[in-house]
Amino acid sequence: MLTMERCPACRSRLGNTPLCPRCGCDFTLAARAKTQAQNLVCRAIQAWCKDDHDMAAAHIGESLALKQGHLAKAVAVMLLGQHRPLDGNATGDSSA
Ligand SMILES: [Zn+2]
Repeated sequence: MLTMERCPACRSRLGNTPLCPRCGCDFTLAARAKTQAQNLVCRAIQAWCKDDHDMAAAHIGESLALKQGHLAKAVAVMLLGQHRPLDGNATGDSSA
């Protein structure tokens, strides 16, 4: 899960564990944030597929706050480019 190859603190090889074997730095939270960022990108794409661009933008914003991932940045650019109503009925319909 963790993709850091070396510990940022002591440069020891990390392997697949979130704990550095040399200095003991714990990267559990960093790994969790990365997973959460990836999950938020998936949620953004799912919302986008349902034409819920506001929700998609919210999810991608949360994802980018956790990690500046390439996929999240690409989805954000696409959302900004297509953030317009498809049916021309975008204003004033708040009664649900
Ligand atoms: Zn270390």
